[in-house]
Amino acid sequence: MEVPASISAADLERKLGPLDRETYTAQSCERFADTIAEVRALKRERRAVILAHNYQRPEIFEVADFIGDSFELASRAREVKDAEVIVFCGVHFMAETAKVFNPDRKVLIPDLRAGCSLAESVTAEALAERREELLPLYPDLKIVSYVNCTADVKALSDACCTSSNAAKIVNAIDSEHILFVPDQNLANYVQTQTAKQIISWDGNCYVHHQITPEEINKVKSGIPGLVVLAHPECRKDVLALADAVLSTSAMMRYAKESPADKFLIVTECGLSDRLMLEVPEKHFYKACKLCRYMKMITLDGTLDSLKHLRYEIELPEEVRAGAKRALERMLELGA
Ligand code: SF4
Repeated sequence: MEVPASISAADLERKLGPLDRETYTAQSCERFADTIAEVRALKRERRAVILAHNYQRPEIFEVADFIGDSFELASRAREVKDAEVIVFCGVHFMAETAKVFNPDRKVLIPDLRAGCSLAESVTAEALAERREELLPLYPDLKIVSYVNCTADVKALSDACCTSSNAAKIVNAIDSEHILFVPDQNLANYVQTQTAKQIISWDGNCYVHHQITPEEINKVKSGIPGLVVLAHPECRKDVLALADAVLSTSAMMRYAKESPADKFLIVTECGLSDRLMLEVPEKHFYKACKLCRYMKMITLDGTLDSLKHLRYEIELPEEVRAGAKRALERMLELGA
């Protein structure tokens, strides 16, 4: 479907206003509508595509060619055919993944500060050291890395995984002992889905890790019939209260297909915004945790990125090839 070149300020306010009246005023929507038109025009001129993560700001969704979770974005980055430029509205490790699959294209991230507490919790050096410590104890040890890590950590891994396929990858890989990096909460969750031994890393996503069972119970107790959907990056005492533990895209599907009409979405707030836009007939309550890294990406920053072709992601070829091998192993095992 052809995306119109512009959206009127009034339509934008009608669409985004219900999400947040303070942010999406008539005045700000006028400004956003002008910038959206500029980004869409520049995208055509530069032969660019914009990939956006589910946690991005709603106005970014307006310029995105594809919105999804990390697994979908990894697959989409692999399939990009016609574009010369990929602008990645997400965090740095995700843009690296787009570069891994598109070495000859310019891959840009609008703000280089958009990192990730989880990705920063493991370095390739520390991982190599830990593997050397563990190998004498578990000679069949394999490393499975959650895609929320840097390309050089992926390059050291036997396979990558996402939150939607982590258990499947662990069960499919030919080893009984898995060093799972970097998310301890996802590792704990995967351990409930496998008979293999998971040795977890001590990392977490600061957004999900700060959510407490008390917060969930407080919302639940006031709303009868509320269905709780939680992301596996949450702590296990939070997951114990969930009706379903799902990746962000699986939450989208679940909320659309379920007969229930009231959901508590226990993940970063951006997903609730996307659900409210795409499923307006149902009610979504937010865990209301914002990822400061994801929110560093703005519409103005995306426009500047396209205008000045910045900030370009570059990877040493050895790292890129290693990360590609681990990501392709994931796509193969998870198929
Ligand atoms: S939500 Fe958590 S895992 Fe995702 S980018 Fe932010 S800090 Fe990293």
